[in-house]
Amino acid sequence: MVVILKPNAEKQQVTALLKAVESLGLKTNYSEGQETTVVGLVGDTTRVDIDALKANEIVEDVKRISEPYKKANRRFHPMDTIVQTGGVKIGEGFFQVIAGPCSIESEEQLCTIAQAVKKSGATLLRGGAFKPRTSPYSFQGLEMDGLKLLLEAKKLTGLPIVTEIMGQDQINDFADVDIIQVGARNMQNFRLLKALGQAVGRQKKPVLLKRGLANTIEEFLMSAEYIMAGGNENVILCERGIRTFETMVRNTLDISAIPLLKQQSHLPVIIDPSHAAGIAWMVKPLAKAAIAAGADGLMIEVHNDPKNALCDGAQSLTPAQFDELMQDVKRRASFEGKETA
Ligand code: PEP
Ligand code: MN
Repeated sequence: MVVILKPNAEKQQVTALLKAVESLGLKTNYSEGQETTVVGLVGDTTRVDIDALKANEIVEDVKRISEPYKKANRRFHPMDTIVQTGGVKIGEGFFQVIAGPCSIESEEQLCTIAQAVKKSGATLLRGGAFKPRTSPYSFQGLEMDGLKLLLEAKKLTGLPIVTEIMGQDQINDFADVDIIQVGARNMQNFRLLKALGQAVGRQKKPVLLKRGLANTIEEFLMSAEYIMAGGNENVILCERGIRTFETMVRNTLDISAIPLLKQQSHLPVIIDPSHAAGIAWMVKPLAKAAIAAGADGLMIEVHNDPKNALCDGAQSLTPAQFDELMQDVKRRASFEGKETA
């Protein structure tokens, strides 16, 4: 980090500033030029409050030269992280497909879909028990009854399960969930992220963190950092489309997020083409693009009766459409040198 000082800063004030920074355990490198005087801060600058520094009357500007995320940063962890759960590995050479209904609606619906997606090659089952809906009048999910059905489907199929948490008060209820999903709307719920890092950290339960609707890559990685800083480094990043001016798709899938995230971080990156597209026919082309761009997996919504789905029917594939997609996905993933089981 570099602090640029205003011209004619008084020596006394400069000394006080250097002392304050050094008290944080950092080394300072003072360099007085003809026109500009700069102070280089050397060490772990994650705890430096840039705004407070900028508020100092002798400071002209402060520039970060390294990223504010450390644990999520590839610079300090060059090898890819592989997240493992229930015998399934995600990351590096391991490509996985997570599939299931947007929301769990009944035992019959969930078991039909779970068995179908397993048969087609999905390795993790996903279903929403608690749904974050824009309207309080929309179906909110079967909640605890939905969670019970999901655990039954896990027993029935042997597939590890993924489901979304809404708040930190639910952590104990999610004890038998294999991967806890943090949805786009909760990406910056810092209390929840901290709680997942700490409470679940002892078990190192994987967290699937979705990118917020309008969040930058840096903000996304800082949210992962919140979980990791608490001691849980099993984080899977999920790009699910961002808000843009385009209205013909539900969200715009940010394909560039894949190489960017993989360059900046060692964490596995998966793509959710269903919420990006919002339209079933577009899920397959986006899934293909994700594989080509280097994703470590996909999360896809499947429904046995999309027309009558209680949530996200328009973007849900039928089991037959999912099966067709899976044939293609397996071929392409193995062409990219990845294992899909
Ligand atoms: C979901 O995964 O069903 C969901 C609500 O997604 P997102 O948080 O990406 O909107
Ligand atoms: Mn959905």
